[in-house]
Amino acid sequence: MKNRLGIVGGGQLARMLTYDAKKMGFVVTILDPSPNSPGGQVADEQIVAALEDENAMMDLSSKSDYITIEWELADSKLLEKFSGQGISVNPSAISLGIIKDKLAQKQFLKKNGLPVAEFAEINSKDDALRAGRKLGYPMLLKARHDAYDGRGNALVKSERDVPSAMEKLKGKKLYVEKFVRFEKELSVMVARAIDGDIVSYPVAENIHENNILHTTIAPARINDSARQKALKIAVRTMQHLKGAGVFGIEMFLTKDNRILINEIAPRVHNSGHYTIEACATSQFEQHIRAVTGLPLGSVEMLVPSVVMVNILGERTGKADVKGLDRALGISGVTVHIYGKAQTKPERKMGHITSIGKTTEEALKKARWARKYISI
Ligand code: AMP
Repeated sequence: MKNRLGIVGGGQLARMLTYDAKKMGFVVTILDPSPNSPGGQVADEQIVAALEDENAMMDLSSKSDYITIEWELADSKLLEKFSGQGISVNPSAISLGIIKDKLAQKQFLKKNGLPVAEFAEINSKDDALRAGRKLGYPMLLKARHDAYDGRGNALVKSERDVPSAMEKLKGKKLYVEKFVRFEKELSVMVARAIDGDIVSYPVAENIHENNILHTTIAPARINDSARQKALKIAVRTMQHLKGAGVFGIEMFLTKDNRILINEIAPRVHNSGHYTIEACATSQFEQHIRAVTGLPLGSVEMLVPSVVMVNILGERTGKADVKGLDRALGISGVTVHIYGKAQTKPERKMGHITSIGKTTEEALKKARWARKYISI
């Protein structure tokens, strides 16, 4: 059996993908510019080079039967080249290309009849002012490329904010989006196998702080009609995207019970980490199964409720984990530490998962455990 897996990117997602790949007997090579990266620490080998380094990608491809990514900004053109050389590359370079440009992503979703907030392309200040008159204020000015965790977004409350928002995102290609007054943020992890089979995990509820995911609660505390809509939209989105793997579909639930897609992540996602402890097949194992042509696993949730809380850096300096003993003393709590040598404010350093009979119980234990941990 072909069993060599290459992963482009060596962060925490690659680390958790590698744990499950190793469980199933794969030999894993990771490409990442930082020596001893979180993924590289647990893989068979790490190639230390920039993700855009063509020679390093050639090296990775010579060591891989399958290539996947943990970083959607990977060079989709390079990946396309390898998919033409008999190496199975997933998610597909075509999907990566669409998703990478946030404006193209929104246009793609709209064209396929999927619900998104109103948006407009912007090439000048005048375009932004025109869009403001059409969409109304507040609106969000967003960078089309290289933007994640809210980096590259600027809130425009009125016409007067347009120049400062344009200045903040100077030099970037932009678009604007109507501000959504959402009730909740939701996400659904969906997987598609190479043979086209699609499965979706339960709808999760996400709480962001400073644009970064802070807490995920599954199942989401929403009514049944919103849940059914979210699941249907997630599956319909996947039917339009090419390639195998796990995708994270982030959504808004509006106050009038509508679902709008905010963003697609063409990879395993922070809001799917809860699946490790709570579901029959974790999103990481599912992704490996999907991209290597194995059958998809059960997405059934095995516990009544689960809460994931991120452990974000709070200072700058050498990482030093404290309080693991006390956090792990709480029944039903698991702590994941990503092995990053340096911490800095808001850097994702680890996460806590807490399972419970009720959401309240799981939330209480997760928050309690979080208080014990410092890095
Ligand atoms: P993004 O990186 O664009 O997904 O944005 C990060 C966060 O900003 C989201 O999780 C939302 O909390 C918020 N956000 C993004 N787009 C909108 C929008 N159109 N309306 C309201 N909030 C938004």
